[in-house]
Amino acid sequence: MTSRYFEDAVPYLVAPDELSSFTAGEPSYRAEQLRDWLYRTPVLDVEQMTNLPASVRERIGPNLFPFAVEAEQVADSGRTRKWLFRAGDGVAIEAVLMGYPERATLCVSSQAGCALACTFCATGQFGFQRHLEAGEIVAQVAYARAFLRQVGMPNTPDRLTNLVFMGMGEPLANYRRVREALRRIIDIGGMSARAVTVSTVGVVPGMLALADEPWQVNLAVSLHAADDELRSRLVPLNRRYPLAEVERAAANYFAKKRRRVSIEWTMMAGVNDDLGQADKLAQIAQRLRAHVNLIPLNPTPMSSETASSPTAIRAFLDRLTSLGVKVTVRDTRGKDIDAACGQLAASRL
Ligand code: SF4
Repeated sequence: MTSRYFEDAVPYLVAPDELSSFTAGEPSYRAEQLRDWLYRTPVLDVEQMTNLPASVRERIGPNLFPFAVEAEQVADSGRTRKWLFRAGDGVAIEAVLMGYPERATLCVSSQAGCALACTFCATGQFGFQRHLEAGEIVAQVAYARAFLRQVGMPNTPDRLTNLVFMGMGEPLANYRRVREALRRIIDIGGMSARAVTVSTVGVVPGMLALADEPWQVNLAVSLHAADDELRSRLVPLNRRYPLAEVERAAANYFAKKRRRVSIEWTMMAGVNDDLGQADKLAQIAQRLRAHVNLIPLNPTPMSSETASSPTAIRAFLDRLTSLGVKVTVRDTRGKDIDAACGQLAASRL
């Protein structure tokens, strides 16, 4: 029962059907009650699992979550909260919760660090440490769900309505564990698959595999460039899976799921914000019938790129719109905190 990173057992690192190891000597329904607390109505403290006997709660002790909350940053009048969780082996895990009047969106990490080294990304700049376990991904979700219900955010629903895999790491490079996390979050936790978005920088085998999974999750493809030359410079993975292959995998996802893929485009001044790129992007977006999200770059201390100016973003958006593409500019939360993925962890290194 002992987990890989802790001397004592941590329930989120144990498979949901093996939780009886925490309830030994108790009737079998106790394991189901524990599973409900972990996955359906998560709480911040084991003592709040009120229908479990003290002996079971003691067995879990302070190890309810597979990490400690090392830092918490708050912005946007309390409606953006970024957590730096520290896992048992010392790696940093970031998650960001964003509240809106109609929804609460959590952005989770799937790896500690990332091996893909996109030039503009804080996570990519400090390299790969390890894959996160399925339980470490699920625990980020559970923590945020418990936080919303028990502490809350101003002018925000008390339940998690949306989940995006856009934090540290490339989810589809950690496919097996991300898949298991999705199974636990959707099939056991009851979250709607349509409220979940998996973002990828173009891991084609993972995109193809996800299209064959039973869940109607959304796929977001981070393109950032609309020709191979520029894309290979910004996203080195493009040399392995060039644009045409990524587009084919995205088209396959749309064909199988009948769910529109979205295209993410981080706007970098003088790099990918010219109208020539907009024209090429429009062609791809039209072929895929994809929605485009423009994201002003949140500059990182270690990269040389800067954010596009509001004028350049406006011109890019107008060009796409005039070509019939549905496009929005992502509201960038947490400008006054280290909000880009990997920034808080990077600042702690
Ligand atoms: S943008 Fe995503 S895939 Fe690229 S280095 Fe950062 S975390 Fe990895």
